[in-house]
Amino acid sequence: MVRILPEPPIWKAAIGFDFDDTLVMKGGNGSLDPRFFECIQWVRSTYGAAWGIATGRSLYQLVEGFNEASFPVLPDFVVAREREIYFPGQFGRWVPHEEWNDRCERDHDRLFRKSKRVLNKVRKFIESKTSARWVSVEGDAAGIEASSDAEMDEIQTFIEGLSRNSNLTFERNSIYLRFSHRDYNKGTGLVEAADRWGIGPDRILAIGDNYNDLPMFQPQICDACGCPGNALDEVKDFIRNRAGKVAEKSGSDGVIEVLGHYFDP
Ligand SMILES: [Mg+2]
Repeated sequence: MVRILPEPPIWKAAIGFDFDDTLVMKGGNGSLDPRFFECIQWVRSTYGAAWGIATGRSLYQLVEGFNEASFPVLPDFVVAREREIYFPGQFGRWVPHEEWNDRCERDHDRLFRKSKRVLNKVRKFIESKTSARWVSVEGDAAGIEASSDAEMDEIQTFIEGLSRNSNLTFERNSIYLRFSHRDYNKGTGLVEAADRWGIGPDRILAIGDNYNDLPMFQPQICDACGCPGNALDEVKDFIRNRAGKVAEKSGSDGVIEVLGHYFDP
């Protein structure tokens, strides 16, 4: 049975974790080391740190991930699809941050309407020149799934060569790419979620492994950052340049290492 933890008397910090290949390894069995939960519950109660997951997964896919990983407790917040914010409600239900999510949806609808021509160009390119797949589903209008990292590199170069609306950007996670509005990413979502407890960027720690985590590691988003040992080289370099913590170990073992670096055991 998943529990919602009682709130610490004072909230002092917020921690945003990426999910795939940071907490749970993609090639693995979906499980998560129970030591992570011991560690995060200790950090939460000792340091008053709210913690959440910032992921490219939809909320539905993330809840599946929580079940597979046997989460004994729910996180304090979720940033899904790199932009939608949810908080845990009663009976394990996830409550949307309506004001933010509605604005996010409106801004994306408007942007994608304005960007129809350029998005069609990308779609035509990937469907005629690559074996990648164009993904368009309810609530997630414009995305790409490539067949390899090298193919996604090629697609990314193509997109970067196009002139486009200055608000139109994309979030990439290995072979996945999602077009998005510049104002919405894991980073801005994390700051908005932390603001619920009055916690600012100077009290935020972000941990992730891939390109779509880079917006979380910006100085205006978080004071502290870290990555597991399996993170992309680009991510490790970025974290090192910010004097963050690059863990030796992979996945959740590496995450525990990062937590140990910032929070004294
Ligand atoms: Mg990841």
